[in-house]
Amino acid sequence: MAINKDTYLQLIESVKPNVTVVAVSKTQSVENILELYNLGQRHFGENYVQELTDKQQRLPKDILWHFIGHLQTNKVKFIAPFVHLIHSADSFKLITEINKQGQRNNRIIDILLQVHIAKEETKFGFDKTELHELLDADSQALRALKNVHTRGLMGMASFTPDKDLIRTEFHYLKQLFDTYAVNTQLETLSMGMSSDYLLAVEEGSNLVRIGSLIFGERRKA
Ligand SMILES: *Cc1c(COP(=O)(O)O)cnc(C)c1O
Repeated sequence: MAINKDTYLQLIESVKPNVTVVAVSKTQSVENILELYNLGQRHFGENYVQELTDKQQRLPKDILWHFIGHLQTNKVKFIAPFVHLIHSADSFKLITEINKQGQRNNRIIDILLQVHIAKEETKFGFDKTELHELLDADSQALRALKNVHTRGLMGMASFTPDKDLIRTEFHYLKQLFDTYAVNTQLETLSMGMSSDYLLAVEEGSNLVRIGSLIFGERRKA
């Protein structure tokens, strides 16, 4: 199976210059990833630690790997040496572990705080109150962790055809982002996937995570 080259080129053209496209390559073959790499794509996103470490070893070393799936604390160590950005920092315990592994690897690991914006119970992330506890100007907990750098926020809208609801959720996340952006120097707002990235960009996203639009529908795991 090949990638949707024309769709990809149009996508890149339509969102530039302010929006980074992360190509979500979970379940995709090394060949498909290389095909996209050869078109100039460097940001790739993966959801599973084992799959990510395998691909990282087999693919060009200048790929910037984003981790976007739910991350278990005991697996941080496997991606800590090379991961470019962890989008799914969703508990303080996890962030503490990322900091520890950052120390071990002598690097500062960039993270986004995942925020729960969807109606569904199943989506991970901080709520508004928890976010405030971490990002408030007086809060020292995050700032004390010297080997993680909080770059921004990430969120996933409800899985629904209701465009108004999706827009409302993205708008809510953008407002939270703006609330803390100045004090905490947040710069990245990761929101939008294949089905809703246009809405997300309209609502202020500057990083979209696109899988099926580029690679075609994933085979179900
Ligand atoms: C799979 C996934 C995506 C990409 O989804 P598509 O609908 O294929 O674009 C984006 N973000 C996260 C967190 C994902 O798990």
